[in-house]
Amino acid sequence: MLRDNRNRIIAAAVLVAISIWLSVAFSGPQALEVTFFDVGDGLCVFVYTPSGRSILVDCGSSSWRDNSDIGRRLVAPYIQSRGLDSIDVAVLTHPHADHMSGYPGLLDLKPARLILECGADYDSPEHVEFKKAAKRSNAKRNVARRGQVIDMGDGVRADILHPAGVHYLDLNDNSIVIRLIYKNANILLTADASKDAEEEILESGVDVHAQVLQVGHHGSRTATTPKWLAAVNPKIAVISCSKRSRHNFPSRKVTQRLDSFGVRTYTTAKCGAITITTDGDTIKVRTRRNSFR
Ligand SMILES: [Zn+2]
Repeated sequence: MLRDNRNRIIAAAVLVAISIWLSVAFSGPQALEVTFFDVGDGLCVFVYTPSGRSILVDCGSSSWRDNSDIGRRLVAPYIQSRGLDSIDVAVLTHPHADHMSGYPGLLDLKPARLILECGADYDSPEHVEFKKAAKRSNAKRNVARRGQVIDMGDGVRADILHPAGVHYLDLNDNSIVIRLIYKNANILLTADASKDAEEEILESGVDVHAQVLQVGHHGSRTATTPKWLAAVNPKIAVISCSKRSRHNFPSRKVTQRLDSFGVRTYTTAKCGAITITTDGDTIKVRTRRNSFR
């Protein structure tokens, strides 16, 4: 009787030990997550890899009451909720305020190990503040060029498709364009690249195919040509834009074009924050209105 009890206790302890081991072994995130924050007029994309590495692509808005707040009040708390004290890679696709206004506030709270820039200078108070914050964060600073690959581990990589150099007077066309790759899933982040940049990327012969496309320049009709859409061949499109866009983004012409290509389009204006999750094969979309503001 006593021995039976002891055996039962040992068996129970073994079961508990196994279940703890299983929960530790399988509790890590197995998916790649890409979140497009609802920043109004602007862009801010957080990439979170299966083993917890991070890339932030832009951190700006031009339609918040205080545009410098988005890093401190919107993005930093989200990154904190992931248990991260810093960002592995912070990308500034091009130095326009709607892509960088929140970076100083964010980098002061969540410093980056590496900052990637397009190499174009722009004389604006926001860019001065960005450069000061980058210096304070002690990050390594690199210029992104076509052909570079950032290996994030777990088979996740970020291929730099553009720019090949600073060739354009229009800063938008110097935007860093990134193709995220995880097994069979591809997500293309084009920032504000417009048709001239699209044309140059296609001419370079790099692979642009992606199931998910961040539509260039907030859905402006200066980007997302039929030729570009045919080459990328996305199933899902994400447009970062405001409900009351001063520029009337997204252009109806572009949304109609996306429809005619059979692409399911999500806008941050209508959906709020948009999170794409993939295990490398299937792709899921989750939207959360007002949850990060
Ligand atoms: Zn922009």
